Amino acid sequence: MSAQEISTQKVSAQDTNSGSPLAPEWLAVPADLNALHEPMWAQDVRKNDAGELAIDGIAVSELKAQFGTPLFVMSETDFRARARSFKDAFDAAFADICGGVDVYYAGKSFLCTAVAAWVADEGLRLDTCSGGELAVAARAGIKGENLGLHGNNKSDAEINRALDMKLGRIVVDSLDELDRVAKIASDRGEIANVMLRLTPGVHAHTHEFIATAHEDQKFGLSMAGDSTEQAGLSAAEEAVAAATGYASIELLGLHCHIGSQIFEPDGFELAAQKLLRFHAAMQEKYSIVMPELDLGGGYGIAYTPVDTPRPAAEIAQAMAAVVRSTCAELGITSPRISIEPGRAIVGSTTFTLYEVGTLKTVRVDAPGDSEAEENVTHPRRYVSVDGGMSDNARPVLYDADYSAILASRTSAASAQLSRVVGKHCESGDIVVRDVYLPEDVAAGDLLAVPGTGAYCWALSSNYNYLARPGVVAVRGGSARLIVRGETEEDLLNRDMGVPND
Ligand SMILES: *Cc1c(COP(=O)(O)O)cnc(C)c1O
Repeated sequence: MSAQEISTQKVSAQDTNSGSPLAPEWLAVPADLNALHEPMWAQDVRKNDAGELAIDGIAVSELKAQFGTPLFVMSETDFRARARSFKDAFDAAFADICGGVDVYYAGKSFLCTAVAAWVADEGLRLDTCSGGELAVAARAGIKGENLGLHGNNKSDAEINRALDMKLGRIVVDSLDELDRVAKIASDRGEIANVMLRLTPGVHAHTHEFIATAHEDQKFGLSMAGDSTEQAGLSAAEEAVAAATGYASIELLGLHCHIGSQIFEPDGFELAAQKLLRFHAAMQEKYSIVMPELDLGGGYGIAYTPVDTPRPAAEIAQAMAAVVRSTCAELGITSPRISIEPGRAIVGSTTFTLYEVGTLKTVRVDAPGDSEAEENVTHPRRYVSVDGGMSDNARPVLYDADYSAILASRTSAASAQLSRVVGKHCESGDIVVRDVYLPEDVAAGDLLAVPGTGAYCWALSSNYNYLARPGVVAVRGGSARLIVRGETEEDLLNRDMGVPND
């Protein structure tokens, strides 16, 4: 959720040009309903002279005519720029600490072969977390040494595949898995490159983080003492000890990932400190050298006008300062640092283009209306679009907030509190819970929802037998499909039919 910290001034319920009492506190009436709030959009998205939304000069009506709706529209230029800016910013900030940073794009946020190829092109590496994601990486021609494999429940087949592809790192999530990786590698007469995923007890939420000792979640090895049955040892230490005992394991180092959509650096800083202290203690106690340390991803982006993401350079400098001072305090040289941004690279590169269908206005009691005002209700407009929770599950899954703009034209109409909903058989099928749209939005208009590059297409489904939308990449004034949309034939393809005997 966004913007707990922002509160707008009280508004009158009577005047339709001011805010609705049904709107959340953080949502202000935009000064100009036709203007783009830049942090939410790819760098080459603009309103053109005709007042239509365009990306790199291509108007949304052209995209609609060529590819249909719903459609994911991704700026390849913007993707490459964001990938490069993370790599460049972290390389610069850490140059004197560990000679630069390895940036692993978190493929789970959005992955197809084209995107994997851009990632490699821009000098980044790729994080995967399943055999299927490894298959995409292989198809894109990514070298094994530039790949990582995550997951709390890797199958033997996935571990074997990782070894077949000579992966740079397998991020081991449990003691049980460590034993399995060691055994599989040993049976193959090979050595597996392993990082250990630790849970440092730091959980970041949008505007705060909480620190706890004991972890109650499925990921990682706890750093808290006595977290296993072996008295005095944490699961993390037990794993380090076990890893150093296996001839078939090369222990590269430690890993943590504290959460997602984080804006403030303090959670990252605390986790980095805890990990470095543990890293130093383990190196000394077990007389080992761990050459690498991964600090995960989770950097936040703007989904609504009140989200305020930090530039990559600012994050990089804050983290470098902590790594530098902690290493000095511990008297160690820093391991090679790596990070794993997903959302912060792909999220804002993409908007979803929908066509408006049915419109409906309901009258709602405002929250807090007293009995004396029993009969006072306020309008909320439901704007239905031709997709929904099947192409964006995040509002349903996480109560995520999004924004939207009328994309196919400009409008001089006044602002109306609207809720953009999908066409699925669920009342929770909401794309944008609260947004001001022009009062004259009508069937056939196109709406664009920005910030849908991460965890939207990736989480898409065929609920209600809707075909999953295609993804179009725009660069150099031309648009091409990088994933085609599904057809009705695709939908029926795996249905085995009725046996006719
Ligand atoms: C999801 C995930 C990431 C990426 O998170 P973002 O919020 O997209 O940056 C990185 N590392 C791990 C281990 C993850 O699970």
